Amino acid sequence: MKTVTLKKLKDKLAKNKNPWIFSGAIHSADKGIINGETVKVLDSEKRFIAYGFYSEFSAITLRLFSWNEDETFGAGVFKQRLTSALAARKRLINSENTDSYRLLYGEADGLPGYIADIYSGHVGLQVNTASAVYYLPMMKEALTEIISPLSIYVRPADELAKKEMIRYPEQCIYGNTPESIIIKENGLKISASLISGQKTGYYFDQRENRRIAAAYARGQDVLDCFCYTGGFSLNASANGAKSITSVDSSADALSNLKENFALNGLEAPDTVKADIFEYLRERNADSQKHDIIILDPPKLAKSQSSVEQALRAYKDLNMLGMKKMKNNGIFISFSCSGRVSREDFIKSVAWAAKDAGRTLRITGFLSQSCDHPINPFFPESEYLKGIVGIVE
Ligand code: SAH
Repeated sequence: MKTVTLKKLKDKLAKNKNPWIFSGAIHSADKGIINGETVKVLDSEKRFIAYGFYSEFSAITLRLFSWNEDETFGAGVFKQRLTSALAARKRLINSENTDSYRLLYGEADGLPGYIADIYSGHVGLQVNTASAVYYLPMMKEALTEIISPLSIYVRPADELAKKEMIRYPEQCIYGNTPESIIIKENGLKISASLISGQKTGYYFDQRENRRIAAAYARGQDVLDCFCYTGGFSLNASANGAKSITSVDSSADALSNLKENFALNGLEAPDTVKADIFEYLRERNADSQKHDIIILDPPKLAKSQSSVEQALRAYKDLNMLGMKKMKNNGIFISFSCSGRVSREDFIKSVAWAAKDAGRTLRITGFLSQSCDHPINPFFPESEYLKGIVGIVE
């Protein structure tokens, strides 16, 4: 196996099990390493640190996946990681009311570059690095053996594929993936598409937060902003919300949302196709206010250089939202930007309250659901942060 040697004093994080090594930490690499291949990573004294996946074109040149020199690399590593990931999900997720979840969450589950979501027995697989593509045959073998899926549909995540310069056409690599699949989450039926939905099809990271939000919904007027296919709206409706307004800029998402309400025999909410910023700004003029507002925007900070701009956008969005709250309303707000820290997000919400002329008391902190575990040596694996608060 080829080796890569790190610079002196640049190996501390790697030795502490942080899986990312940036190009600046590398002292030298053997000649002829194939993009995507597994390498042995050594410290400046040529001592073994870990095995890692090599990405020639990415700023993150190495993604470590094993700190055990005796772990022979091969299909067995994939099978072991999947077996362990599956056992964790089985322990954590109530299979009576939820049959779909994230089975494998990249670095946090010991297989960098791969995201595998289960949709009622079908797999939506994201391959996000050169190695993820390179070792796809091994991954396929492990998935078919460990979970016996009905089908596997592969989609690279666009922004990451660009950084890694991978060109892999999305396609079904096993079985037959239907255009849409009816999954079960929190006891609700949801029609999701691995082929045309956003990301792998649905956002499992909000499963537990949907329940938390819905617990407040009985008899309440709810505004679900960035509703996508209705995750929060459906849970709120099933829990007895008085009225729901679901807003998103995607017409496809809203028609999927209506289908989901019908699937569950729930009365359709008011749906509005709009840019949320414009929608909230325009509506500040009229008097309609809500008991509960949920703000779940897409990733607003796509790179380190856009963090400042994203923080301003979070502030504006939260300010506009808080202006639409009834007195003592429950305000639930998220950031899924990995680069925005929890602390900075809370600061932007605090400024938002000030500029809205409202008082916010934070009553709870929210994170991603249990099938998106956080590697404590790798803070980047925590990307979703949210708050629940009371607005006066
Ligand atoms: N809350 C959803 C997930 C939200 S994902 C759930 O529980 O499943 C973010 C959503 O925001 C996407 O559906 C996307 O179409 C929508 N979106 C992105 N930018 C928007 C904008 N400016 N205004 C309204 N919707 C937007």
